Amino acid sequence: MEKSDIKSLSVGELNAYLESIGQKKYRTAQIQDWLFKHQCSAFDQMKNLPASLVQRLDQDFDINPLTCSSQDVAEDGTIKWLFRTKDQFYIESVLLIAEDRHSICISTQVGCAMGCTFCRTAQMGFKRNLRVGEILEQFIQVNQYLKTQGKELSNIIFMGMGEPMNNFENFDRAARIFHDRRFFNLGKKRLTVSTSGLVDKIREVADRETPCHLAVSLNGTNDSMRSALMPINDRYPLEKLFEATDYYVEKTGNRITFEYILIKDITCTEQAANELIALTGRRRCKINAIVLNESENDMLVPPSDQEIEKFIAKIRSKEILIHIRRPRGRDIQAACGQLAIKQQKVA
Ligand code: SF4
Repeated sequence: MEKSDIKSLSVGELNAYLESIGQKKYRTAQIQDWLFKHQCSAFDQMKNLPASLVQRLDQDFDINPLTCSSQDVAEDGTIKWLFRTKDQFYIESVLLIAEDRHSICISTQVGCAMGCTFCRTAQMGFKRNLRVGEILEQFIQVNQYLKTQGKELSNIIFMGMGEPMNNFENFDRAARIFHDRRFFNLGKKRLTVSTSGLVDKIREVADRETPCHLAVSLNGTNDSMRSALMPINDRYPLEKLFEATDYYVEKTGNRITFEYILIKDITCTEQAANELIALTGRRRCKINAIVLNESENDMLVPPSDQEIEKFIAKIRSKEILIHIRRPRGRDIQAACGQLAIKQQKVA
């Protein structure tokens, strides 16, 4: 019989299990301490547990829900992991290194149902949600790699494969474990969730006080442009999206990040710049402009450097905060979904 993943168990579930085998509940805190604070990779490393319990845990649970299938290093230092789940799906995590910051881009689903036209993962369709343990494990394995070099992960971006808000309960629980002082102890500012714009969930993040910052993939400056790139816009057009992001900013006091993909003749034009200014100029936000990475859609190409500079200068002239992000790890296919799709096709 397949063992269950111990990292996915809630406190209540682990308590119930321990009770069922005649163990005391205080063992739950000890076990979670080993799993999430010390990030150990085998039950026999849990030194304050009796040998009989270690043996029983080993018999009943898996401690490593993901297997590393490949690890590729790009010329610019970006590293991409391809992980295999127990049920033989592939997911990706990307390590981005910038000065003293080591950020991991984490997946929350196998595939994605949102159908954004510029995204490789969309072509895979939706397979299943990742469990809490599988979300945490991406961090743990990448962090173990960094520790061998005397470094540690400092930031998490829930922006890999999948729409985190479509796996809300597991994303929310993972974010709380990452933030928990007893475990990973990552401050709120070090956690960012990126959504395609599920407005009810944006409100829920604010209401539940999920410990993270919010980034929204805007990508279109009017409804027809955004709907053509992101089908979610038909369900939640710009007006509804901005009502929700305004609510989030008011409720949390946080600045919001709008991600904006730069595509030649579509989103990187003078008209788009003017519309973007109108949408964001009076809001407490910053914009991350992301130059289109390789795409299998021939209709979508990145703008020239000159076009990008002109666009950015126009936005900055209105004193709107905008950063430009160039594609990372091109030589290792670091764009979300590129490797996993290949593997899924091979498997
Ligand atoms: S961009 Fe994000 S939300 Fe859109 S299809 Fe890709 S993974 Fe899903």
